[in-house]
Amino acid sequence: MPKDPILTPPPERRIYCNRTLNLRSIKAVGFDMDYTLVHYRVAEWERQAYERARRGLAARGWPVEGLEFDPEFVTLGLILDLELGNIVKANRFGYVTRACHGTRMVDFEEQRRLYSRVLVDVGSPRWVAMDTLFSLSEVSLFAQLVDRFDAGATSAATGYLGVHRAVRQSIDEVHLLDQLKAEIMDDPDRFVELDPELPLALLDLKHAGKRLLVITNSEWTYTQAMLSYVLDAFLPGSMTWRDLFDLVFVGARKPTFWTAPSPAFALVDNSGLLRPHAGPLVLGGVYHGGHAGQVERDLALAGEEILYVGDHIYADVYVTKDVLRWRTALVVRELERELQAVNAFRSQQAELSRLMEEKAALEHQYSVLRVALQRHEGGYGDSPGRRPETLRRRMGELRTELTRLDARIAPLAQAAGELVNPRWGTVMRAGNDKSHLVRQIERAADVYMARVSCFLHETPFAYLRSTGGSLPHGT
Ligand code: IMP
Ligand code: MG
Repeated sequence: MPKDPILTPPPERRIYCNRTLNLRSIKAVGFDMDYTLVHYRVAEWERQAYERARRGLAARGWPVEGLEFDPEFVTLGLILDLELGNIVKANRFGYVTRACHGTRMVDFEEQRRLYSRVLVDVGSPRWVAMDTLFSLSEVSLFAQLVDRFDAGATSAATGYLGVHRAVRQSIDEVHLLDQLKAEIMDDPDRFVELDPELPLALLDLKHAGKRLLVITNSEWTYTQAMLSYVLDAFLPGSMTWRDLFDLVFVGARKPTFWTAPSPAFALVDNSGLLRPHAGPLVLGGVYHGGHAGQVERDLALAGEEILYVGDHIYADVYVTKDVLRWRTALVVRELERELQAVNAFRSQQAELSRLMEEKAALEHQYSVLRVALQRHEGGYGDSPGRRPETLRRRMGELRTELTRLDARIAPLAQAAGELVNPRWGTVMRAGNDKSHLVRQIERAADVYMARVSCFLHETPFAYLRSTGGSLPHGT
């Protein structure tokens, strides 16, 4: 009998697992919409958000003339330091590994002076974590306005906190006013990156017997337009996105949706007319508001039988896991770019690792000779076999070898640190460690993946096993 083909998904289509998740035991899968079911062309969306927020700031008298959006200036996972007007990247322990004051990168010495005794704690008001791709415009405007503030173009009384408050307010308005969303609905092709594999992935899950849900903070009109655009054309026959989902929650106010009972309003017709809803949720219904407890109760499911898939580390997965113990999946689209970049760098990385091993061995040899010399000079311990002059000569040779090695290591290490984004490197790593974002992902997300259609490649029946955390000593 011919062997069944083993179709291992390519790395960028895999689902990566922090905590073992058996998809067979999942009875319902809830999806966030923006940047989860619907992926935007980030630069296009954020440029529009930036430009509108900039105009809002100008109208309030902020000195923003001539400022322009650079989509490569920042990445997901950076953290604002409102005390110093900085943008920082931190590692899993909260140590700052890179920093930028306004738009100027801070050099190593200054960074050490500013942050050697500081740990990033995103729970405190000093720090603001950039949790979604919607943050890129906010960070850019903040950094540029910090430059202008430092140059004395705004009132000193404002402080960096005031600068951020103003930027936040303008960005908020862009999201809450309907103009940008109207523009997107008029020309979705310009703003949305379609994924033709998505509908099949959802159909597979549905036909495997799982209830499918949408839980989005977006409003009805926008949700309807976007989900129809990304799904309807790829569904069989006359099926529409509405037929895929058993329950749809719009205006869900996550993270409150997970934590506090709030009333659900039922959608009466497609115009968006709502009426208060009493009694159990009706399958096929669309609701405005609502809360997670109602979903568990009316679907008669326990938290661990529901998987929620979203892109917002805090509002979609952290609270969901922390409060409800639902199973959680985080969508991190950057993973695709990062995996490609890391793959392209593989042979250089191997060379870098080899040179680092060589360096560690030479350093060890040097230290052994040094302690031998120390004992010799101190007249204690074992009498070293070699004479001090011989030890010193060999140490000198090792220093020369190490200098030569460092010259070969430096450009490779620099290239490794500049993968994907020359200023900030990859989203997942900070220095030679995991990034602060990764630490949050490990805590909050049972699994993570680049896009929802990764379910297609893993299948609805996958038993996703955690690889377990490896320790420095290797067990
Ligand atoms: P979800 O990801 O599907 O839950 O939807 C996110 C919704 O929140 C979208 O409608 C965004 O426009 C909106 N949103 C994102 N960032 C902000 C913000 O900073 N202020 C207000 N609304 C936001
Ligand atoms: Mg989202």
